[in-house]
Amino acid sequence: MIIYSSNNIDQFFTEMQRCTKCLLPITYPGIVFDKEGVCNYCNSHQKITPLGDDKFFDILKRLKGRSEFDCIVPISGGRDSSYVLQQMVTKYKMNVLAVTVDHGFLLPEAYENISTITKNLNVKHEYIKYSEEKVNTLKNNVRIKFRGWVKKPSINTIIPVLNSGDKTMNLKMSQFAARQGIRAILGGNVIGTSAFEQDFFKLGYMGVFPDIYWRFTFGQKFKIFYKYLWEYLKNPYNYRFSIFSEYAKGYLIFFFEKLFRPKGIEYLGFWDYNYWEEEKILKTIREIGWKGADDTTTTWRIDDAAYPLINYLYLNIVGFTEHDEIYSKMIRENQITREEALKRCLNDHKPRFKIIQKDLIDYGIHKDDLDLSINHFRFGFLNKLLKKKNIKFIKE
Ligand SMILES: [Zn+2]
Repeated sequence: MIIYSSNNIDQFFTEMQRCTKCLLPITYPGIVFDKEGVCNYCNSHQKITPLGDDKFFDILKRLKGRSEFDCIVPISGGRDSSYVLQQMVTKYKMNVLAVTVDHGFLLPEAYENISTITKNLNVKHEYIKYSEEKVNTLKNNVRIKFRGWVKKPSINTIIPVLNSGDKTMNLKMSQFAARQGIRAILGGNVIGTSAFEQDFFKLGYMGVFPDIYWRFTFGQKFKIFYKYLWEYLKNPYNYRFSIFSEYAKGYLIFFFEKLFRPKGIEYLGFWDYNYWEEEKILKTIREIGWKGADDTTTTWRIDDAAYPLINYLYLNIVGFTEHDEIYSKMIRENQITREEALKRCLNDHKPRFKIIQKDLIDYGIHKDDLDLSINHFRFGFLNKLLKKKNIKFIKE
């Protein structure tokens, strides 16, 4: 048994065991290391092989010329969707309408990138804007939920509490397509994420791991439902109609989205056919004017206002973020060395305090109170998580 003082949890994070091949640490859900210190996720990794261009061209041929636009490409202003749009226009020569769902949680970098890229690619672009009333309700809900979270933190509710924006995005997009008479949505971001830009650990703490295309079995969906229902019930701060209604809608859509979708629209994932390669993506989109954010080294999810705080919470509770996960996948796929990944990861971990501070002011939470709450919570959480791994934290 290795014993740490509760005052030394941050030190534990810097020296905790990580896979010798990728970066995943001992606090990653479900992780087991073999004799060489290689994790089960590396040992069971199968090379990512998309379906390829031949199949993709066949499909695109079918989509062409059926309506004013061949398809919608959803863009968020982030790196992935910007690349998909560039490829659909330049390489695949599709007549596309670029569409952004503006749920009120986009950062200025997102608007700027969207405007630059669509202009440079000469693509028509539309915003689907949530009404001011809806945005206010969502923002107010985040405030209530997050204040409740600080009183009663849980590793499982970080995303549903802070990421209000995108529960109904896909549905909004397809309803828009139906109204415009466009019969296909070809997405990199909203419909069909790449096998790389995913964060399995966030549901992993509930024991749920979808497949690499982010598909869930009914059993997994049910598990998520009852776990979240329990999380909802045990925090009295949730007992308000606006919160109940947001969660209820979110789960209905999660479970039964197909039933709500308008008929006759096809959904295609760009990354089902194309291999994701960070270097190529960044090089391509920078050529059409895409810019990262000034206050961070990461280029992933710089468009979404919820993520600086989300990453801050995970970093302080389990000692890693989604960046450790994506770099680990890139190591397994030989896109980056472990050494380089570790270096970049440490830089990407640096919190975007300007945005976090603004969020905390909006939510009426003092940072010291947040840190106190995290400290208290992680002590119990880590003790439970690492008990079988013979690591214990004691109060000092
Ligand atoms: Zn590994």
